[in-house]
Amino acid sequence: MADLTAAVRALPAPRCAYVYDTAVLRSRARLLRAAVPPRTTVLYAVKANGHPAVVRTLAEECDGLEVASGGELALAVTAGARRVVFGGPAKTDAELAAALDAGALLNVESPHELRRLAALGAQADVCLRVNRPGNSLTGSHTMTGTPTPFGIDEAQLPAVLADIPAGLRVIGFHLHAVSNNLDGLAHAGFLTDAITWSIDTARSYGMDLHVVNAGGGLGVDYLSDASIDLAPLSSVRVPDGVELILEPGRYLAADAGWYAAEVLDLKTTHGRTFAILRGGTHHFRLPAAWGYSHPFQILPVDEWPHPYPRLEVTDTPVDAVGELCTPRDVLTRAQHVPRLRTGDILLFPRAGAYGWDISHHDFLRHDPPTFITL
Ligand SMILES: *Cc1c(COP(=O)(O)O)cnc(C)c1O
Repeated sequence: MADLTAAVRALPAPRCAYVYDTAVLRSRARLLRAAVPPRTTVLYAVKANGHPAVVRTLAEECDGLEVASGGELALAVTAGARRVVFGGPAKTDAELAAALDAGALLNVESPHELRRLAALGAQADVCLRVNRPGNSLTGSHTMTGTPTPFGIDEAQLPAVLADIPAGLRVIGFHLHAVSNNLDGLAHAGFLTDAITWSIDTARSYGMDLHVVNAGGGLGVDYLSDASIDLAPLSSVRVPDGVELILEPGRYLAADAGWYAAEVLDLKTTHGRTFAILRGGTHHFRLPAAWGYSHPFQILPVDEWPHPYPRLEVTDTPVDAVGELCTPRDVLTRAQHVPRLRTGDILLFPRAGAYGWDISHHDFLRHDPPTFITL
């Protein structure tokens, strides 16, 4: 925390930054590693945060990386990932070829994709992504048990497995189901069910099962400092000869990032007080995208080098809003502040996953934040 605040204060005003702490990435990865059962492979899902330092750190600390585009694949190769798994419903021929070249394990999402791979001359082991009926998990984004563009409908699986093109061998299934699940017991149940279903399905189609990829979805609670309880995961039994792959993004990266933005102006209109920031949802879109208020901490800055008076509010709820010309540029509604002044900095913790990477950076063409790696 001391390093973090020193790094932010050292920036030129008006301050605006993302700070990523690689020590936190390492400790999250170790916590997860210690919690998962034997024969589990942990891959970091690069889409949560593709900053090269984050990707490099987690390529070292995890068993490898999960990627979903040619751009992420290139990052993973540069980061020296030991294992790469490539998924995504709209892979181009160039991406398929690059994935084969890099020795990545492909999660194939449709029978059409299987035929495209075969036409590229692929000789490869692949997993099939399956959209199973029913879904016991709750979280923010449900991917299975409901109509989605992801994977092969379970009802169509027999026909697909009966017609695997020459050169390809199906070694397992990919069953990523949810995002931001906060219930550890339910997640353990989901893993066990994924393993059981995969074993049964492989057996009924005479297939050798090597891989069960249960995807990501381990959650963090943005309104508290809680995360999913990992303890139940250790009770999941992974049979000999089967590899359980997990692909968490948020769980590993969220706590390793802070978004910091200086208060440029303070005003009250129609009875509501706004802290207007050098920054906003074009840098940190997650709260607006998900419709919640992201809690902030105040980093006081005591210098005030200007000839005009410093604005200050005390003991009041404020809305933290950005520099964009839209009323939707809101990070936090009505957070009570003891004291807030222009020139102080708001620090948003848990901004390391799906922060910068999901934001619409070019809207209004403001300068990007500074990126700091600790
Ligand atoms: C997004 C995604 C992940 C990572 O999800 P988290 O919720 O960040 O853990 C893993 N696998 C696939 C296929 C994904 O689409």
